[in-house]
Amino acid sequence: MPKSPAITALPCRTDVLISGAGPTGLTLAAGLRRLGVDHVLIDRNAGIQPGSKAAAVQPRALEYLDRIGVGTGLVKDGHKARGFCLHDRDRTLLRACYDRLDTPHPYMLLASQQTTEEHLVRQLAELGGTVHREHRLVGFAVDFPGVTVTVAGPDGVLRAVTTRYLVGCDGVHSQVRDAVGIGFPGQAPEQLFALADVYLKPGARAAVSEGATFFLSGAGLLLVSPLAGDLYRLVAPVSSGSPPPDAKAVEHLLARRGPVGGTGSVDRVVTASTYRTQERVAEQFRSGPVFLAGDAAHTHSPAGAQGMNTGIQDAGNLAWKLHAVLTGIAPEALLDTYHRERQPVAAQLVALTGQFSRIAALADPAAGRRRNALLVAAAATEGITDWLAATLAQLDVAYTSEPDLGVPRPGTRVSPVAVPPDGLHWTLALPGTPRRGITASGHGVLAVRYVPDLPTTLLVRPDGYLAAAGVPDSPAKVIDRIGEYLPLAQ
Ligand SMILES: Cc1cc2nc3c(=O)[nH]c(=O)nc-3n(C[C@H](O)[C@H](O)[C@H](O)COP(=O)(O)OP(=O)(O)OC[C@H]3O[C@@H](n4cnc5c(N)ncnc54)[C@H](O)[C@@H]3O)c2cc1C
Repeated sequence: MPKSPAITALPCRTDVLISGAGPTGLTLAAGLRRLGVDHVLIDRNAGIQPGSKAAAVQPRALEYLDRIGVGTGLVKDGHKARGFCLHDRDRTLLRACYDRLDTPHPYMLLASQQTTEEHLVRQLAELGGTVHREHRLVGFAVDFPGVTVTVAGPDGVLRAVTTRYLVGCDGVHSQVRDAVGIGFPGQAPEQLFALADVYLKPGARAAVSEGATFFLSGAGLLLVSPLAGDLYRLVAPVSSGSPPPDAKAVEHLLARRGPVGGTGSVDRVVTASTYRTQERVAEQFRSGPVFLAGDAAHTHSPAGAQGMNTGIQDAGNLAWKLHAVLTGIAPEALLDTYHRERQPVAAQLVALTGQFSRIAALADPAAGRRRNALLVAAAATEGITDWLAATLAQLDVAYTSEPDLGVPRPGTRVSPVAVPPDGLHWTLALPGTPRRGITASGHGVLAVRYVPDLPTTLLVRPDGYLAAAGVPDSPAKVIDRIGEYLPLAQ
């Protein structure tokens, strides 16, 4: 278990205390650090947990990770997959390729969660931040206007930290969520899943060379995705009470559900486990000075590779809002928009992944054949696979209910290909080419970009969503009026 190299005394006062240094807490800490927000990040574990859990980083998450300086290094250590496929044994039913997506990362990056967390920890350290390892949140009291958090250190001594805001990034069994009394309704399906990371022999590798492949055979679902190197991730629903799969069990799954001829295909099993999923969304993502993010706020089937990616977006949504409120750019009410924007995204995601899991796991052979025929028809219908790719890539997440009338809508994503970002600055995109001596930077929280074919000026939030269109073309005026462009009234 790699340990965080930095050991720093726990401060007794901070602006933001983050409980949990999984991918969500680490992303939030790196963002806050980049924005210069004073914070403390604690985790009860001694180091990053080994193993792969989340194996796919989606384009939208990579776009945000680019903003905090993690994207480039992570991409180098991952495997770029073209997208995902649905198969019935050797027959391709549907192929959703990311190649045509409007993003600097038109691929699904396959990298273990451990690798992603290692990059986040490294970047946090480079920015001067740290993880207080072996520090466990044991309780807290909300004392207006903040929170007093009790933390147990590695020596067993309890310390109090007063903080303006507390963010629970402490996973699905979140103590923060339970202690603040936020409900976590949903369901826990009985289905048991087996997971194994294995080295496959060359013959079996060829069948899954395009990326994550869902085999929907009559014998049940099998998901195979390449990780970095020659390592492969296999996930399959198995009968209750099954032990973690060994090489023989993995070969059996491949032979019955995977590509024809996929027998005798396992070189070595690296890790194996079984798990159950839950489908739940927190009723509130904010209660006064306490916030929930990542798995603490939502959990669902890993089919579709969305959980960690959604936690990263939660962190991206919250970081700039905390900064804006703590620095007086925005009123406290901006923090309510975190729940308003992110909770519906999580609810939709839980519904989508639940539906997908149930459709993929159809036990009745006749229903399975009808499903497969429908998938083939869907794949042949123009626009469907592109829509599916954009949905799983999380590029179509939007914080607006306004219909798309072909004009820029506040709350929709602005592609970084069209308007290149500058870290976690707001971005003022001006039509045309550089003129009137307006430089790209040097405007405090605002960066300026010139975009030749832009029909109107755009103001882009630090998390990559449109704040407003048709704003003044003067950085000073935009900064003066930035309060008008916050998503408060939407
Ligand atoms: C088999 C499997 C495959 C998956 N595949 C994918 C995928 O491909 N793509 C994807 O996006 N997602 C995937 N996921 C989901 C993904 O792993 C989670 O969504 C992700 O780990 C959530 O990150 P998090 O930081 O919110 O929570 P966690 O990763 O659960 O981190 C929570 C942290 O909080 C700490 N903590 C808890 N309590 C306390 C406390 N009291 N005090 C201090 N620290 C505390 C824990 O030690 C932990 O480090 C998969 C999950 C599984 C199980």
